Amino acid sequence: MTDSLYAKTSNRPGLRANNESWAIGLCKQIPLYGIVSMIVIAGESKFMFERLLPHMRVNTIYDIDLQALKKRGIRGIITDLDNTLVGAKEPLATPELVRWLDDVRDSGFKVVIVSNNNRTRVSKFAEPLNLTYIHAARKPANKAFRKALSLLELPAEQTVVIGDQMMTDVLGGNRMGLQTILVNPVSPGDEGVMTRVNRRLEKIALARLRKKGLWPKEDSK
Ligand SMILES: [Mg+2]
Repeated sequence: MTDSLYAKTSNRPGLRANNESWAIGLCKQIPLYGIVSMIVIAGESKFMFERLLPHMRVNTIYDIDLQALKKRGIRGIITDLDNTLVGAKEPLATPELVRWLDDVRDSGFKVVIVSNNNRTRVSKFAEPLNLTYIHAARKPANKAFRKALSLLELPAEQTVVIGDQMMTDVLGGNRMGLQTILVNPVSPGDEGVMTRVNRRLEKIALARLRKKGLWPKEDSK
């Protein structure tokens, strides 16, 4: 089971030496993913800031052109759960999502859920769908993305990350050399405390990206 595979390797590694990974190491000690992401970004160059930029933006997962992804050589999907597939307080998949997942799998894509949420939440959602998952992923840290790629048995260049947060899903995916797709949150009113912190940081990051001309000024995301 995905779950136990992840659990086997979930020991906290010590802090690594290089400039970027000290903060990611810290991220594993405390659940303040967004804050740590911001520290990483603040201490890094313009290049690092650009790691917050998704390759593609869509309103919802249903707006993703699966055939276009296939044509670009994508074979695997690493997807966030909360506010990407369903609202954060929605325990199960909607009928629309079930149909979409059938379509995704019928189109030949392999799928894995990678969520920062806990085992109970993620397993109750993923198991009825027969979906592989990694819980408590600590995105944007690399480890869960690496694990997801090994579960998919695909290289980074054939895999896309779908998520609703720049500070976790997009930053984590981009750092790993994956394609990234940002969706609008399904139910922004249901976000937890940490996500609300991340949203504030996202706003700060967006202001900077707009200043650099990397994000449309009129776009309020
Ligand atoms: Mg999310």
